[in-house]
Amino acid sequence: MSEPSLEPRADPLQEYVDGLFVREPDLLAELRAALEERGFPSIQVPARTGRVLELLALATEARRVLEIGTLGGYSTLWLLRGMHPEGRIVTVEKVPAHAELARKFLDRAGEGERVDVRVGEARDVVAELGPDRAWDLVFIDADKEGYVEYLSHAGRLLRPGGLVLADNALWKGRVVDEEDTESSTRGVRAFNRALAGSDAFRATILPVGDGIAMGVREP
Ligand code: SAH
Ligand code: MG
Repeated sequence: MSEPSLEPRADPLQEYVDGLFVREPDLLAELRAALEERGFPSIQVPARTGRVLELLALATEARRVLEIGTLGGYSTLWLLRGMHPEGRIVTVEKVPAHAELARKFLDRAGEGERVDVRVGEARDVVAELGPDRAWDLVFIDADKEGYVEYLSHAGRLLRPGGLVLADNALWKGRVVDEEDTESSTRGVRAFNRALAGSDAFRATILPVGDGIAMGVREP
């Protein structure tokens, strides 16, 4: 008997949904290729998750968005598609070469003006941000060890009804593997527990891609 795999398997229903609703713009396919070519990690959200980010930004008419973990700007570009035309994103990235590639693709998409790519340690950059209770959406997708801290900043920054979203909430199934005690896995579990128990958010995990945790800021 083979080991049970925690990797997502080919799923005909997923293919059905993707075939109907998920179209990756050409520039975004090009960005994925550019990440691979440069040997950068290929850990951007899948297109189906990007589509969900787009729709949630659209539904909240998001104008002020914070993204933690830019990589090449792949998820940034999905968020921008859904945001209010006058909306702007602050996106935080600690690796200068990632930030540089992101700026290049954001400019090519004609979105450069709407995005402020901040290079630095997310903890430090986010702690400086304000005003409180004025942001529409916070998307967390950087180091998993920082997720709990980023959640508390999201609670501070978001307006009532604003959304906190976090990628990799299911961590390829590792959250339920009791033998997995790596710091990243512990970080995701701690985040999910904190979100579930928070009075500041009404929340769940959408089982899309690697799991998108979603919390609506309570009044
Ligand atoms: N959101 C992107 C993927 C982000 S991958 C997308 O879906 O397209 C995670 C990124 O977070 C990497 O580029 C990594 O360099 C950055 N990162 C990791 N830890 C960080 C930290 N402590 N501060 C800022 N950026 C960090
Ligand atoms: Mg991710």
